[in-house]
Amino acid sequence: MAAVTLDGLRKEFPDGTVALHALSLAIADGEFITLLGPSGCGKTTTLRLIAGLDAPSGGHIRFGARPVEALSPAARNVAMVFQSYALYPHMTVRGNLEYPLRKRGVAAAERARRVADTADLLKIGALLDRRPNQLSGGQQQRVALGRAMVRDCDVFLLDEPLSNLDAELRAHMRTELVQLHRRLGHTMIYVTHDQTEAMTMSSRVVVLDQGRLQQVGTPDEIYRAPANRFVAGFIGSPAMNLLRGRLEEHGDALYFAVRDMRLALPAEWQNALRSRGAVAVLGGVRPEDLGLRPEDLGLRPGPGAAVVEAVERLGHESLVWVRLDGQRLCGRAPARTDLAVDQPVQLAIDPARLHLFDADTGVRLDGCQH
Ligand code: ADP
Ligand code: MG
Repeated sequence: MAAVTLDGLRKEFPDGTVALHALSLAIADGEFITLLGPSGCGKTTTLRLIAGLDAPSGGHIRFGARPVEALSPAARNVAMVFQSYALYPHMTVRGNLEYPLRKRGVAAAERARRVADTADLLKIGALLDRRPNQLSGGQQQRVALGRAMVRDCDVFLLDEPLSNLDAELRAHMRTELVQLHRRLGHTMIYVTHDQTEAMTMSSRVVVLDQGRLQQVGTPDEIYRAPANRFVAGFIGSPAMNLLRGRLEEHGDALYFAVRDMRLALPAEWQNALRSRGAVAVLGGVRPEDLGLRPEDLGLRPGPGAAVVEAVERLGHESLVWVRLDGQRLCGRAPARTDLAVDQPVQLAIDPARLHLFDADTGVRLDGCQH
């Protein structure tokens, strides 16, 4: 096993596409880390560079203290599982599992022992004599994992391994992979565009966008304090509401204001925010932090008055979409909410739950601590 260090890793393809801009990352020995980001952000490129399938255009990769750029993929001793399982169709499951061992000249008795152990671990012992076309998607995925695990590798690379499975099997395989990692203790680098996988499986998440690192942190850190507008919008479902507004100073206090709604910001945020001086800001509110109270009909609407546009009843809860100052916001409400379309509501936002971002750069403002 090995720690993996990426140092200013860059990949520019011959056509001029820069898939990765100076990515630096320290992955601990035995860590389960996830690279998360939308399609095209550079996840597969990063794995291929680590595996040695592609050469970087700049930067360095180390396993432990050892630089590996000059090493062939085989000499790096990594195992990679792809989204397309890429099993050999003419070989049985046993043949597929044995193949990496044969290639390395492992003796027959040892091969049989390792195949049996791996099949046992992945519960595919009963399938050893079948061919891939006689297996379900989930079974094929297990065999692909088994083929990667059957030998002792230093680093395990998984590229969207669950994305071809149906939702139920995906949820099941998530927990299985976590248990496997716990048992085997490999360094695992897992790639996904699915935030649920990233947030539930790994100890740390690396968020990428357009080949650039956006944030590295535990799932909790990334959810609680997204580093910028991209991470805020990407993590969380439904996404965090991002309200265009202003920072305003009145008397001694600093406010976040949208139209006539003003929220006094917590006293402990104020020094850092004042020195920042950003006036146009985005105020981020998670749907669970957006309180919605029915307006008293007949009274003049107060600040923060909005109108319900849609109510989605999901069974265990409802999502309520409202419009405020031309902006659409989502709030979570109980399953049996009385809120209905066209109803005026009063928004209730706890200022201490706000996330503030610079409206121009999208960077989180120092000071809004959660
Ligand atoms: P992801 O796995 O996150 O979806 P990739 O790492 O596959 O993204 O691709 C990152 C970017 O690099 C994309 O813009 C993609 O189109 C581009 N890219 C990938 N491979 C090549 C290639 N061989 N030549 C040119 N551009 C490529
Ligand atoms: Mg990919």
